[in-house]
Amino acid sequence: MTLKAEKSHAKGPARLRLGMVGGGVTAFIGAVHRIASRIDDRFVLVAGALDNDPQRGRDFALSIGIEADRAYDSYQEMIKAEALRPDKVDAIAIVTPNFLHFPVAKTALEAGFHVICEKPMTTTLEDARALAEIVKRTGKKLFLTHTYTGYPMVRQAREMVADGAIGALRRVQVEYAQDWLAAPEEDPEAAGANWRNDPKKAGQGGAIGDIGTHAYNLAAFVAAEEPSHLLAELTALVPGRQVDDDAMVLMRYASGAKGTLWASQVAAGNGNNLSLRIYGATGGLEWWQEKPEELWYTPLGEPRRLLLRNGAGATEAAVSGSRIPAAHPEGYLEAFANLYKDAADVLSGNQQQTLVPDAADGVSGLVFVTACLESASNNGTWVSLDALRNG
Ligand code: NAD
Repeated sequence: MTLKAEKSHAKGPARLRLGMVGGGVTAFIGAVHRIASRIDDRFVLVAGALDNDPQRGRDFALSIGIEADRAYDSYQEMIKAEALRPDKVDAIAIVTPNFLHFPVAKTALEAGFHVICEKPMTTTLEDARALAEIVKRTGKKLFLTHTYTGYPMVRQAREMVADGAIGALRRVQVEYAQDWLAAPEEDPEAAGANWRNDPKKAGQGGAIGDIGTHAYNLAAFVAAEEPSHLLAELTALVPGRQVDDDAMVLMRYASGAKGTLWASQVAAGNGNNLSLRIYGATGGLEWWQEKPEELWYTPLGEPRRLLLRNGAGATEAAVSGSRIPAAHPEGYLEAFANLYKDAADVLSGNQQQTLVPDAADGVSGLVFVTACLESASNNGTWVSLDALRNG
């Protein structure tokens, strides 16, 4: 694959050119993408349509070093103009509210750009399937930024499960609890809260789409197995809310394993309390996002062991996802940077395989949300995920 890459200096490493849609001055995750893309110095942000308010977007773009002729009013204008440039961007990061992921990704892929897209990939399963087809047809890459797959100890857990460290899968317990949407009236300054409670912008799923998809992806990433059936109860615990803010899901796996997923954005005292506990016939693994450097491993009948990032017993995936020795803390930004580093390796032709989720994982996420919505609207019946996957 030939890519237009810039040289940072005469003999420096080739950097990929990045464009960004969303991530304006008031936004949350756009800034994280910008930092993460720079940590390993593999990307340079050169273009952006950063805001739904064009003037505010242009002003902010200039303030973060984007040249005036590449600070665009809209994603349509950006993609059209960039496609004509000899130094066009290589990839476009999509960090807008959910309903824009599909149209922006479609336009970008069809214009010949790779895409780094926020989750959930789309707001409907139909769009997710269509986007996966566009990825196939265009031959361009789509990286889906399920952040937690970037953590070294999550990658280590995946490797250990694959290597038989816990034996045959029996039980998956995944929880993602937050409290930032617990108040009846969202803070008008919290821009990210407003669209999340609007089904036209977020999709029909609330917490289940926003953080349930992260929890589902994390469990699937580590277990390398997805459930065949689920039963869901989705509730808006804050009166008047249009989408769920609390979700309980039971899962059955074809192997006979069982799972439970809880996602809540109204659980007072929880910041970003994502945890995965996974048990097999001969052992168990436990990981908490708020203590991301630690992985607890218990071989059945032996004492619990604390494995540390880049410490004794670290596996290849955990070592390659680390930058500094154990006990110098790494965290969220470095995990996010691993997604960008892996994407850069793939786009530069240095690496074929990547642990970064892709369009197929995006479809899986929408299969999950759709099954939850179907189950919940039928008063909690069991729904076949396999039927939706094949549908
Ligand atoms: P946000 O509301 O804080 O920011 C959204 C940004 O998009 C704003 O700057 C807004 O002006 C801009 N925008 C809206 N419409 C636009 C348009 N037409 N053109 C250009 N820009 C436009 O939202 P957020 O919390 O940053 O979330 C953005 C996305 O990231 C969502 O899909 C969300 O699910 C996802 N997200 C992912 C993670 C993660 O851990 N991977 C964390 C938070 C959010």
